[in-house]
Amino acid sequence: MKPPVCCICDKRLDYPDEGGLIYFKKRVSDREWEERMEREGMVGHPPFAEWFCGKHHKRALELKGLTIDKAMKQLQL
Ligand SMILES: [Zn+2]
Repeated sequence: MKPPVCCICDKRLDYPDEGGLIYFKKRVSDREWEERMEREGMVGHPPFAEWFCGKHHKRALELKGLTIDKAMKQLQL
C-alpha cells in the first residue's frame, strides 16, 4: 500500500480520522493485475485505488462508480 497521502493535493492524511482509501470501478487491466498478484502470491497497491484527504474524499466517493482514470480526470478539473 502507498502511504496515506492525498493523490490530488499531496496532503498527508490524518487517517483514519480524515479521508481514506477509495477503490474505484475495476478496468480490465485492474482485474488482470489482481489475478496476477493472486497467482504470484504478491501484494501491492491496487492500481484502481487512491488516497483522498478530508477535503477531496467526499467528491471522490461520488465518483467511485467510475474507473480511476475517468474519475481522476473529473477530480482534477
Ligand atoms: Zn486532498
